[in-house]
Amino acid sequence: MSLRFKVINEAIRRKAVAVNSPEGRPADYFGENVFNNEKMLKYLPKKSYEALLDTMQNGTFLDNGTAESVAAGMKKWAEEKGVTHYTHWFQPLTGGTAEKHDAFIEPDGKGGVVEEFSSKLLIQQEPDASSFPSGGIRNTFEARGYSAWDPTSPAFIVDDTLCIPTIFISYTGETLDYKAPLLKALAAVNRAATDVCHYFDPNVSKVFSYLGWEQEYFLVDEALWAVRPDLVLTGRTLLGHESAKNQQLEDHYFGSIPTRVAAFMKDLEFECLKLGIPLKTRHNEVAPNQFELAPVYEETNLANDHNILLMSIMKKVARRHCFRVLLHEKPFKGINGSGKHNNWSLGTNTGANLLSPGKTPEDKLRFITFIANVMMAVWKHNGLLKASISSATNAHRLGANEAPPAIISIFLGSQISAVLDGIEKGDNTIRMDGKQSLKFDIAHIPELLIDNTDRNRTSPFAFTGNRFEFRAVGSSSNCAGAMIALNTAVAEQLIDFKAAVDAKIAGGAAKENAIMEVVRDYVVKSRAICFDGNNYSDEWKAEAEKRGLDCETSVPLIFDRFLAESTVKMYAATNVLSEKELEARVDVEFETYTKKIQIEARVLGDIASNHIVPVALRYQEILLGKIEKVSRLFPEKLNEIAKADIEMVEKISGHVNKVRELTASLVDARKLANKIVDVREKAIAYHDNVAVLLDEIRYHIDKLELSVDNELWPLPKYRELLFIR
Ligand code: ADP
Ligand code: MG
Repeated sequence: MSLRFKVINEAIRRKAVAVNSPEGRPADYFGENVFNNEKMLKYLPKKSYEALLDTMQNGTFLDNGTAESVAAGMKKWAEEKGVTHYTHWFQPLTGGTAEKHDAFIEPDGKGGVVEEFSSKLLIQQEPDASSFPSGGIRNTFEARGYSAWDPTSPAFIVDDTLCIPTIFISYTGETLDYKAPLLKALAAVNRAATDVCHYFDPNVSKVFSYLGWEQEYFLVDEALWAVRPDLVLTGRTLLGHESAKNQQLEDHYFGSIPTRVAAFMKDLEFECLKLGIPLKTRHNEVAPNQFELAPVYEETNLANDHNILLMSIMKKVARRHCFRVLLHEKPFKGINGSGKHNNWSLGTNTGANLLSPGKTPEDKLRFITFIANVMMAVWKHNGLLKASISSATNAHRLGANEAPPAIISIFLGSQISAVLDGIEKGDNTIRMDGKQSLKFDIAHIPELLIDNTDRNRTSPFAFTGNRFEFRAVGSSSNCAGAMIALNTAVAEQLIDFKAAVDAKIAGGAAKENAIMEVVRDYVVKSRAICFDGNNYSDEWKAEAEKRGLDCETSVPLIFDRFLAESTVKMYAATNVLSEKELEARVDVEFETYTKKIQIEARVLGDIASNHIVPVALRYQEILLGKIEKVSRLFPEKLNEIAKADIEMVEKISGHVNKVRELTASLVDARKLANKIVDVREKAIAYHDNVAVLLDEIRYHIDKLELSVDNELWPLPKYRELLFIR
């Protein structure tokens, strides 16, 4: 039996396994492995508890004495739970997380050991930065890097290790991770939005940014996965003909969850709830073997830590169930890819959601104020927002016939669009859905019926009633990339807004009039970013071009937006990223892009030469054997008996020759690109000259899959990868 049939057999025989079934109810074990409020109360002296809480809630400085007692409390808790190691847990620019585990033990000087965990170890560590991506910074300066405790995200336990969320910075203070700029962006939007809130409510002292991510993913049986080098090494299939049936019957979305998958989900939820990740929703997605899960939204920094943690927990739990999780944005050609919708909103310490339409006239004016500012921010920085979600892997979704298109626009829905039309015209009469006609003076914006907000699945940035859903984020990426750009853009915008309104007030305008005038100006200016139609249509591409929106589709060129003048200015004004940090980051983006395509090219070259061509030749050999026999035994009937075989031999030759030719070109293109020193130019060469060949080679391999004997075909086919579980 061929290896392929052996692994299919193995996969088919698997049963759902109930692993690790929870005792008690979710409320009993939620946050069990987190140093949360309950543990802080139990393990910290009252004064330290209050100081830490103040730091967590208000960002106040945490003194050394408090840190010492927090370290002692954490250690006591961790030891009671059998923990022996600790690690600073950080998010380098690789996109994953990094951890270096150290045992609590220290030599006692008398030949034994004591277990220690001081504030020094809690607050700061010094991992060698030279093995993490750092763009130019590493070359210019010392290799040293520091990780520093982020007390706003609670420590947690995984296996035998206490994990301390930290930021990661270079010796010279530049940030080398996602968390540090995210924290700065959140601080910037807090400051700017709080100031603007004071026009409406003097009691607001803090504005939180909230994130509710939805994580899409695929599951594949581990046995099938293991014999596909492309899945193992690149996370996606580089070849494979479409299955006769895939998602066309639309029978998978929200369908009943297969039992093996349900067992995996339960196990995963149990692990996540213990870690304080408030998972709430699970369902089948559109494509076969594609699923989604989503938690209740949280403050953005915590939500982001939880997403990163979830991705690593998912991979571990999947293996217990003999699955592999595919977080790649496009593991399979011809069916939907995976995204990570980032639901985003701003809320105040007084409990108001700034993106909720509200009831009172003040609420409505505040709502329209924030909507207009988001519109301006997204309009000004639409290129940067696209750059923030772009990658070699997400490129397979961008611009393909599914969310997201390669153009960022905002969907607002008919009701809000109608309100904006009114504002734009200076017309005070607003009609909504033909049902109501409301008179509104400046502050009297009509009550909006949020359940009337229609949905538009094709929009990359959609208003959904009380939040925006940024749908373009890639399933494998760190949400922080998108959240840094969005929150900073909104912060910069709100600062400008306040300055404009204050100037009008200083000129004698009444507050509400001043606000409304600036809002009207913004609505008129940024209306080009709003689009409620079909984002996949060619008409939209043409229209967006006319409107001056960023329509670039080449990922390396999209990365240029990170260094656009408007971007550099924005990050400097908000103190989130310096130009040097931006340059370093963009270098990392170019390098990562190049390496991903390079790996794919190597893997496909190997599969083509060592798996596909030999098998095609073997099948050709079988056909040639028959043709030879027929021509010997029935020479006069050759055309009658072996015509189709001869044609098939020719067809296979045609494709095999193309595969060989193109694979040789692929090697040449790679060699040429590798000679380029400049990281940007190199990434462009990989995009323009290498990536295109991958698709061309695939075309011929997929044709061969249709021709070659099924028994000989070495790699599990789409119908097996997607339907056996
Ligand atoms: P969808 O219908 O878009 O698939 P889901 O229920 O899967 O919706 O996910 C919606 C996500 O949006 C959840 O994580 C939810 O907690 C989050 N969410 C809801 N309200 C807000 C809000 N005000 N701010 C941010 N996220 C929110
Ligand atoms: Mg959903």
